[in-house]
Amino acid sequence: MKNFFEYDFAEFQQFLAENNFEKFRARQVFDAVYKAKLFEPALFPSIGEPLKKFLAENVEFVAARRVGLKNSSDATGKYLFELSDGNFVESVLLQAPSDDGKLRRTLCMSTQVGCASGCRFCASALRGFVRNLNLGEILAQSLPFVEERELDGRKRRVFLFENIVVMGMGEPLANFDNLIKALGILNDPSKFAFGARRITVSTCGLADKIRELARMKFPFRLAISLHGATDEVRSQIMPINKKFPLGEVLSAAMEFSKACGRMITLEYILIKGLNDTFDQARKLAQIAKTLHAHVNLIPYNRVEGLEWKRPDPSRRRAFADILERAGVSCTLRREKGSQIEAACGQLALKKKLGDSLS
Ligand code: SAH
Repeated sequence: MKNFFEYDFAEFQQFLAENNFEKFRARQVFDAVYKAKLFEPALFPSIGEPLKKFLAENVEFVAARRVGLKNSSDATGKYLFELSDGNFVESVLLQAPSDDGKLRRTLCMSTQVGCASGCRFCASALRGFVRNLNLGEILAQSLPFVEERELDGRKRRVFLFENIVVMGMGEPLANFDNLIKALGILNDPSKFAFGARRITVSTCGLADKIRELARMKFPFRLAISLHGATDEVRSQIMPINKKFPLGEVLSAAMEFSKACGRMITLEYILIKGLNDTFDQARKLAQIAKTLHAHVNLIPYNRVEGLEWKRPDPSRRRAFADILERAGVSCTLRREKGSQIEAACGQLALKKKLGDSLS
């Protein structure tokens, strides 16, 4: 059964016509899904029972069902989604104040079951790579997060998050085509119309794919997981650095920011005794200045079974001070925000539902 999001409008009209439904019904279905954000044919307005039944039996709307909520707190909720083959992925809804002090909600989406990148500090890498998510499965992680709001005197169903980060399980650029299609559908003004500037994709540094993004003038934000300011340090924790050493990643990043005219974010997890030396801080500052990049310093979050630790607060502050004194725009997450990082980059692959909810 084909997933609804695989159809463009003309194809869907054609599909209905071939099955003896009026072509104009396609508009009603597209509006029900993309404007009213309804994902069950039974709920579609202005559509008769025979078409509802036909759609329910012949088109897949929700490719991954939300089956559980894990580690819920005020600020974050981890949601478990079950895929049709029995695998699970997690996505996270986080809430945090933005620069203007208002609370914003961010959806953190996964793109793969497991991950092949093998970063030595990351929970998702622990059990290796299982498979790519398909288009429907990527989008399905956004579908349950809809609420009714009154806008211009009318009740509308809208996504309840203001931002999307593709920082869940998996390496998004290793599932390139499905990622691009999913972001296209979220952003398309005739579909979900979610602003490109409110979507960030994070990569461990697949330089060839970053160059491809530059060529296609990727309209979304890009974050690169650096985690080391020299090949020597980066190779110790990120095996991908052998294939794409720092120099390659940085020249691809430069190409991206020139072509797309946008500032890149460099993510840098602070790991005690590994990448938190002042020498790394100075080299990181140099890299950020050359790229005109923003640096996001994230204290490492403990992963069960791994030995890495975060440096103590004074060390983290001193590391950030070096960047700031060098004139680099930099964010150091406060302790209070640790729930947020706990949500991102720590999504482990769990095999059984009982396992996942424990
Ligand atoms: N594969 C992509 C996106 C998924 S990980 C990437 O590498 O960017 C999202 C972010 O969480 C990455 O910066 C990753 O390095 C980071 N991360 C992974 N494990 C973490 C941990 N235990 N604590 C803090 N950040 C972590």
